[in-house]
Amino acid sequence: MTPTPDTTPDLPPKGETPASLKRFDNRFARLPAHFFSALEPAVQPGTQLLDVSPDCRRLLDMSREEISDEHLRALLGGEQLWPGMQPLAQKYTGHQFGSYNPDLGDGRGLLLGEWRNDSGVAFDLHLKGAGRTPYSRHGDGHAVLRSSVREYLVSEAFAGLGLPSTRALAVAVNQQQVPRERWEPGATLLRVAPSHVRFGHFEWLALSGHRQDVALLVNHVLAQHWPDLLEAPSPALAMFERCAERTAEMIAGWQAMGFVHGVMNTDNMSILGIALDFGPFAFQEQFDPAFTPNLTDAGGRYAYSEQPSIGMWNLSRLAFALLEQVAMEVGSEEAAQTVLQHALEEYGERVNHAFGERMRARLGLQQEMPDDTQLLGDFLSLLYHQGLDYHRAFRALASVNEQEPAATPADLGQSAAADGWIERYRMRLLHEERSTRERQQAMNQVNPLYVLRTHLAQRAIEAIEQHNDTRELKRLRELLAAPYTAQPGMDYYAEPAAGGAPVRLSCSS
Ligand code: AMP
Ligand code: MG
Repeated sequence: MTPTPDTTPDLPPKGETPASLKRFDNRFARLPAHFFSALEPAVQPGTQLLDVSPDCRRLLDMSREEISDEHLRALLGGEQLWPGMQPLAQKYTGHQFGSYNPDLGDGRGLLLGEWRNDSGVAFDLHLKGAGRTPYSRHGDGHAVLRSSVREYLVSEAFAGLGLPSTRALAVAVNQQQVPRERWEPGATLLRVAPSHVRFGHFEWLALSGHRQDVALLVNHVLAQHWPDLLEAPSPALAMFERCAERTAEMIAGWQAMGFVHGVMNTDNMSILGIALDFGPFAFQEQFDPAFTPNLTDAGGRYAYSEQPSIGMWNLSRLAFALLEQVAMEVGSEEAAQTVLQHALEEYGERVNHAFGERMRARLGLQQEMPDDTQLLGDFLSLLYHQGLDYHRAFRALASVNEQEPAATPADLGQSAAADGWIERYRMRLLHEERSTRERQQAMNQVNPLYVLRTHLAQRAIEAIEQHNDTRELKRLRELLAAPYTAQPGMDYYAEPAAGGAPVRLSCSS
């Protein structure tokens, strides 16, 4: 074991975890033993902290006096645990690319415990890249710099955009070299989330011999997150309905922001409906409905346009896992099928409705008019056919002034199609009641200027890898925390990559 650094004399060495610190709870660790494997993080030699998110620190009420950056470094390096932590790897299963895999679980991450902020709200602290676990299968238990920095940045970017997601408190690099497509520096990420319970947890219980525990996990989720549902006539159904609602809102947000998750396997779906397990994700750039950043998804199962229906498919796997429990609670399997089916249909309506609302806001439309859907569809079609940048195009719309015909914004390119659409849009805006200025302000609150473009993340990663330089990482993190506000001198970060071709990534990236 690496000796405890001098700067952290107040923390016990690894292994000593007196459950005394008022901050910590470990409710998952109190579930029956087969839900997890208790084990400690592996030591990651030469761990160096790259960045800590001040916003995430604030969310946790984690002051530097209480937890210094050195405490964080030692935690991310597997050198220390903090008092009260009970690290464990969670067991779950799931459907990967449509096929059930019974052998999943936390293969390279550990739940360290729940941290309570000053208001008593609990957040899982999860160390990703913590070494091998009983669920690692052939994996090495490591995370690499590239994927960890990408997850760190996108987590904080989601918070800035107002999209529900796990957060990231800190990211660190270490001196290991890890084989991927090439040798890459090892890294760890401290992920923060209200829960790490996945659809796959329920699939594991229902499909791998622990049906009797489904009610227990439903109760665990409801007690922690949705106590208003604890007394529902069927708690399992109520949890499913709430999960379906949240999942619909989450995916509508992805569609509106042009985000492609890339690996929507059921083990990567949060029961709370927050984005989880960022891998080969990307934001749309030159808009293409068939876009997927995931190189290993040749069939495009998880492409942009498929995400809403994949959400439905994944929810139907969850419904199947809950079916027997819901049947016990509502009286018969037939009745259970009916109510679960109904909730699935509601998901379909909700995801479409929520997407429509978000897109109306992006277009600056408050009044509802019959041709609005067509107007939006034609805009997306214009972006696709003209190869336009999704984010710049939406941001540019605020500059259209309905009162006076003007040149088509440069970000919509030069084409008769763009000119024609802009003129239609201008005519449509005349039916709005808000003043031009009000509309423009509102649009700039929902059309981000800065998104985590793949090449920007890559630049930050290369600066670290080649020069141990974290300035780009910190600059991006700051910019993405306030993505709607133009920052002087930062035009470069609002621009597409030179060349424009979308970068694609493999699962391990
Ligand atoms: P993912 O697609 O990244 O969500 O991973 C799917 C499954 O593989 C999960 O059970 C992960 O814990 C596991 N896994 C992914 N990468 C590794 C790795 N390098 N070492 C061990 N397990 C891994
Ligand atoms: Mg996963």
